[in-house]
Amino acid sequence: MLETLWDWSGWLVAIILGLFAIRATVRFDVNEWFRDRRRLQKENLAILCPHISIVRSDGKAGIQSAYISPPGAFAWQCQMCGHISHDQRAIEQEARYWAENPEELRKRIKKIEDLAKKLGRM
Ligand SMILES: [Zn+2]
Repeated sequence: MLETLWDWSGWLVAIILGLFAIRATVRFDVNEWFRDRRRLQKENLAILCPHISIVRSDGKAGIQSAYISPPGAFAWQCQMCGHISHDQRAIEQEARYWAENPEELRKRIKKIEDLAKKLGRM
């Protein structure tokens, strides 16, 4: 009698452990998938970044390159996405492009905001 009881509880433990293992595997895969998605979307965010910040003064909105360079450093880093550039002329050209195409910039910022909202939800 005791022996059969032992057999049964042994099975039960095996089944419970099995269920845990399945749950753990599923959870792990889902996490992995979410991480990948997030990473990809973050990368998209960096690709979409116009490296421009909107500045407001005297009630007027203007744009300014979001790149900053710490004193003594030769590299420039975007304050928005963290992208690093060594080409100051390219940065200036890009800022000029966005200044001349405000409608494009508006669309781009909208796209980034949508993506950022999606990232915030996950
Ligand atoms: Zn940027």
